[in-house]
Amino acid sequence: MKESTFPEKRNSILEMSPDTFRRVGYELVDRIAAFLETLPDKPVTTGEAPRNIRTVLGEETLPEKGKEAEELLGRAANLLFDHSLFNGHPRFLGYITAAGAPIGALGELLAATANPNVGAFALSPMATEIERQTIRWIAELIGYSTDSGGLFVSGGTMANFVGYLTGRRVKLGAAVRREGLREQPPLTVYCSGQTHTWLQKATDEYGQGTDAIRWIKTDNKQRMDVAALEQQIRVDIDRRYQPFLVVGTAGTVSTGAVDPLSGIARICRRYDLWFHVDGAYGAPAAALPENESLFEGLREADSIALDPHKWLYSALDAGCVLVRNPQDLLHTFRFRPEYYNFDGAPDDPVVNFHEYGPENSRGFRALKVWLGLQQAGRQGYIQMIRDDIALAEALFCLAGETPDLESVTRHLSVTTFRFVPEDLSGEAPAVKSYLNRLNAELLSRLQNEGTTFISNAVVGNVYCLRSCVVNFRTQMSDIEALVETVRRLGRQVDSEWRCGLQRPIAAK
Ligand SMILES: *Cc1c(COP(=O)(O)O)cnc(C)c1O
Repeated sequence: MKESTFPEKRNSILEMSPDTFRRVGYELVDRIAAFLETLPDKPVTTGEAPRNIRTVLGEETLPEKGKEAEELLGRAANLLFDHSLFNGHPRFLGYITAAGAPIGALGELLAATANPNVGAFALSPMATEIERQTIRWIAELIGYSTDSGGLFVSGGTMANFVGYLTGRRVKLGAAVRREGLREQPPLTVYCSGQTHTWLQKATDEYGQGTDAIRWIKTDNKQRMDVAALEQQIRVDIDRRYQPFLVVGTAGTVSTGAVDPLSGIARICRRYDLWFHVDGAYGAPAAALPENESLFEGLREADSIALDPHKWLYSALDAGCVLVRNPQDLLHTFRFRPEYYNFDGAPDDPVVNFHEYGPENSRGFRALKVWLGLQQAGRQGYIQMIRDDIALAEALFCLAGETPDLESVTRHLSVTTFRFVPEDLSGEAPAVKSYLNRLNAELLSRLQNEGTTFISNAVVGNVYCLRSCVVNFRTQMSDIEALVETVRRLGRQVDSEWRCGLQRPIAAK
């Protein structure tokens, strides 16, 4: 018999001794704490070009030999702390991405250490139950049925996909999972023209094609016109299409508008359609008592998508979908392969999350959300969301009162506004087009400068600057600074353009 040469004690290079872990870990935690301390003094972004970033990173090939963890983590911290856009910065008011709560950063360390696979109870007993509890708490927070089911996914897009697929399965029946869509009349889905691009991805990826989308017009408050919705459904039924889903958005991505949810719910009941609410951004604002009428109808949704990495202030990534009837998720996603031995006892059934959604192996996204919900409590969340909305209102007022600014919309914590030189106004096409170009240029300069960060929205045909506060670090002084930055850059662009070659129009 050949003698084994395998050493008695294996020495794996990825293993770390407890002492090393302590030393390297404490050092990293110290660096993170120092980073958090100095964050407000840093720019929101360095605005570096891709080629600069690549140069800093270096174009090395895969290392042949290993290196010390300490050195590697130190370098990673330097790279990230010196060359990132910080959505945790008090002046990050751009896209809807939250300042991640620090407790979540520690939670992620813990989650990665226990490293449960939250695809099945047997692989993640406590983590599965923590995820279930977190889902229940989120439903409770926004006033949705606590008997609903749901799970965490990577973000709002995936959460909306789960709602979409569940609606399709329920409205078309079980056979669609075996046979596909061959025998169906063409399916149609309905949403307002302000709906996020996830629905285009969904119709494309799941075989309906983007022509299946009926973009319903919005009213002068950027909300879906429910009469137009019903009319379009009737037209499609007459033409032998098969409507199956209506998407109501609770907080649109551009302006934060909340569609008339009860009106949409009524239409869905009338025509037997799945009512999905995209609350990726806005759903947490349903926790505020003062928003009760705005979110009326939310609890009638068949499914709701919601992003904890937006207005629950969780670190990326964490999306969440809630479905009124948890069985619908099982009916949509469950297969039972022979190589899984995950069944519970008949008198104590288990939840295996791989049967409730598209993912199989799943990380422990719930932990950071679970920790945040407890650290702040319902009252804490209500206060933070309320403050964000108050800051958005303050910006709207400030822009309205400032001579060379114009406020355009304010819904939830999204404000749109623009720079309008005091001597320029009117409806002339040349003026409108100049103002659109001026504000677009202003925004590019502002984003490059990096001291404060906002984005853009087009409202009607008006190019606007857009601020969205989902940031528990933002203060009133940050809003005032934003206004000053916009005015400074607006004047700069305007004077350059008027003196220079680009002078597009005469002042009034
Ligand atoms: C952000 C957002 C999405 C997409 O969510 P991701 O987490 O980016 O995938 C969908 N709908 C709305 C209304 C959003 O604000």
